[in-house]
Parts: sequence; C-alpha cells; structure tokens
Amino acid sequence: MDTTDASAVSGLDLRYPGDAGFDEARTVWNAMVDHRPALVVRCREAGDVVAALALARREGLEIGVRCGGHSVVGHGVPDGGLMIDLTPMGAVRVDPERKRAWAQGGALLGALDRATQPHGLATTAGNVSHTGVGGLTLGGGMGWLARQYGLACDNVVSYEVVTAAGEVVRASADERPDLYWALRGGGGNFGVVTEFEFRLHDVGTRALSVGLDFPVGDAASAAFRWRDLSAYAPRQATYTASVHDGVATLGFVWVGDPDEGRAHARELDALDALGSPTDRRIEELSYLDLQTREDTTEGHALRRYWKGHYFRELPDAALEALLSHGPDVRAGLQAYGGAIAEVPDDETAFSQRDVRFEYVVAASWTDPDDDEDRIAAARTSATLLEPFASGVYVNVLGDDGADGVRRAYPPEKLARLAAVKRTYDPDNVFHLNQNIPPAAA
Ligand SMILES: Cc1cc2nc3c(=O)[nH]c(=O)nc-3n(C[C@H](O)[C@H](O)[C@H](O)COP(=O)(O)OP(=O)(O)OC[C@H]3O[C@@H](n4cnc5c(N)ncnc54)[C@H](O)[C@@H]3O)c2cc1C
Repeated sequence: MDTTDASAVSGLDLRYPGDAGFDEARTVWNAMVDHRPALVVRCREAGDVVAALALARREGLEIGVRCGGHSVVGHGVPDGGLMIDLTPMGAVRVDPERKRAWAQGGALLGALDRATQPHGLATTAGNVSHTGVGGLTLGGGMGWLARQYGLACDNVVSYEVVTAAGEVVRASADERPDLYWALRGGGGNFGVVTEFEFRLHDVGTRALSVGLDFPVGDAASAAFRWRDLSAYAPRQATYTASVHDGVATLGFVWVGDPDEGRAHARELDALDALGSPTDRRIEELSYLDLQTREDTTEGHALRRYWKGHYFRELPDAALEALLSHGPDVRAGLQAYGGAIAEVPDDETAFSQRDVRFEYVVAASWTDPDDDEDRIAAARTSATLLEPFASGVYVNVLGDDGADGVRRAYPPEKLARLAAVKRTYDPDNVFHLNQNIPPAAA
C-alpha cells in the first residue's frame, strides 16, 4: 500500500511497522501472541473507526479490533491485517444523579471503576483492572457485583456501534432490539462498539475478602462443605476457591458492609473442623483495592494458556479432581447465581445463566521452551473436570475454535445470533473473535 497516500486521504493516525508506538500497540497481555499487523489505526472517535473500516475494505485487509488486549489468543491483533486500535478511546464520563456511565469502546475496567467510585457508585466489571471494558462486556462480564446486579452486559442500557457497513448506530431496548440482544453476550461479532452506556448502583466503597488455606491433600471435606454453603450465600458474597502449588484456598469475596461480611464468614468456621487450615485471612479493603489486587499476579509479559468450564452441579468427584491438579497450574472456581440467574434466558445472547460455578485453569511461564509442557498441564487438568462440565463462558475460550463456541451457546441461541450476524455483518468482516458466522441467506 502507498502509505503516504492512505494517510493523506483519511487523515487518520496510522502506525506502520517501525513507526513509534507500533510495537506498543500490537503487544497484548499474553506474551505468546506475537502478531504483526500491516498497519494500526489509532482511533480517537467513531468517525475514525468508520474511516479505518473503509480503508481496510479498500485495501482488502483483515480487520482486528483491539480494546484491552486480553483475548488470550490475541484476537484483537490481526497478523498482516489492519488493527482498529481503540486504546485512545479510553475515557469514561459519569452522571451521578442519573446513575449512568458512558465508557468509550477502548476503556479499561480501571477507568470505569475510578470514575464511578468517588460517587459510591459502580457497575459489574471484572476482577483485573487492566482488562478491557470492550471484550469483557461484549462476552458477558463476570465480576464481584454480578450476583447483586447482574453481569456487565446486563447493565448496558445502550451501545453506540459502527457496523460492518460503516454506519454509526445505537442499539438499546427501543432501537435495534435485535442488535441490542446480540451485543449482550455475543462478543465482538456485530460491529465495533464505540460507547457503552452503563447503569450504575449504590454499592458504597467497602469490601471484604475471606480465604482459608488448606494443604490440597487435606482439603476435600472442607471443599464439600464450602460448596454446600455457597448455595445459601447472600448475594454480597461470591464464593471462590483456588488450587495452586499444593494449597487450596476456600472463601468468598464480599462487596458491601464489611461487618455483615464478617458475620457471614462465621459460617466458614465449620471448615476449620473439617480440615487443618494453615492460614485464615479476613481482609477488609476498599472496592477499588479489591478491583486491582490481582493486577500484578495477572500482569502482562508472561506466556499464558487457559481452559474453562461451567458447572451446573459440582459433585464431590469434581472437587476431588480439582484438588488433584498439579503444581504447574492455577485453577479457580467462582460462584454464579443471584441476579445473574434471574435474567430470563432469552433476554440476552449470554447463555447458561443457571450455572453454579465457573472454572478456569491457567498456566503462566516465561521460557518458550516450556510452551508444550505448560499447555499440556493446563489441558490435562481441564480434561479431568470435563465429565462434570455443562459448557463454557465465551470469554474464557482460547484456541477452542468452533467447538468452543458451540459449548458457549446452545443451538437455538447460536441460530438466533447467526441471523443477527447476517443482518449486521453478512460478509463476516468481524471474524477475529469467538466467531459466529452469518446464517446462510
Ligand atoms: C487477566 C485477565 C482477567 C480477566 N478477568 C475476567 C473477569 O473477571 N471477568 C470476566 O468476565 N472476564 C475476565 N477475563 C476475560 C476477558 O473478559 C476476555 O479476555 C476479554 O475478551 C478481554 O477483553 P479485552 O477488551 O481486554 O480484549 P481484546 O483482546 O482487546 O478484545 C477481545 C475481543 O473482543 C473484541 N472487542 C474488544 N473491544 C471491542 C469493541 N469495543 N467493539 C467490538 N469488539 C471489541 C476484540 O475484537 C476481540 O475479539 C479476564 C481476562 C484476563 C486476561
């Protein structure tokens, strides 16, 4: 392509290989991803996205859309294609009276929380603040507030979207309800979202984290009891379990009055009697600290691989399989239920609202020579849990391909999503995602 000509025609901020900022723009969370776009378009507004799309189509370039860059397989960065870089569109505006926030399409979760918390407000966001609002919300968006207020996507009142045809449109309950339905859980398949309008809630600013550590060999009875307690937990509590390096940690995260959280923590006293905890932590912290406390362990620059499952039930044998995971992987469970399960299933593209737990097993390492072993370790662990699984969360999919997408959505949802895709992206321009191809005409 004649680079001078392209930038003169469009007036866009274009970065080619070798330009300042090019390598930063293509570097994403997972260090295994080393994709090199032909060019990056740094978008500052919806009009830039429209122009970038037109440029890509004119030049016949594959399109990738990058927000937080946390797709584990690097879907935001097209190898040899045109990357629509939304990171300059990271602003969040809040109206505390109307309890609304408008996040630009490239905003990170931290920007959303930092803008809303000074007003004691928040909406559901994920657990690591450098994750993108874009990818997380479009796939559903699970976080510590979801049992109280629904998933991130359940709190989106409207979207501003640039469609494959290059039109800037709005989607809400009243405008293009088919698109609004698909954007709530269907991923980045339907256009480039340049703005999310979120409903906010009075969540205050305080939180509590409770964790009991057990040697994995001595954790089974306590894990069974932890699972049983989770079924009756108040919505402020999101039960969590993790297994790493021979230690099983059982507990919950509480968002709300910490004293009420402490009172609930006494329910876990029974776990002490069932095993021999080596540590017991009850930590009061601000909601903002809660939202950033995993930022370092889940930081950039490591090689990463993960697999996930959903569980409708978690029989003893499943927990025993979890506790048998080797030291090379980190596995976690996070409870669903509450407000997530109350949204009628056909109201959003997001599926499997009746699950009780989400499971992720992850490996992280630095030496490329270890790739094969570490990936194998995560896959082996996930295989142990597969017989108990009922599906998977679309945002946890990695290299699972079309089979993964079929695990994330039941056939009737996939058919409806494919029909909406045909309306808004019949040529599958947006296919670097967990792809839903358009239905045949
Ligand atoms: C460290 C870490 C922690 C996580 N924690 C959670 C969690 O707590 N809860 C949870 O639900 N998920 C969590 N996830 C999963 C996360 O939701 C997905 O990885 C998600 O795809 C990341 O979005 P992103 O914008 O950062 O990534 P990107 O790689 O930039 O984008 C991911 C996909 O979304 C598309 N996309 C992004 N923005 C837009 C947009 N504005 N318009 C159209 N398409 C867009 C991209 O094209 C790509 O296909 C986590 C992931 C990581 C790596």
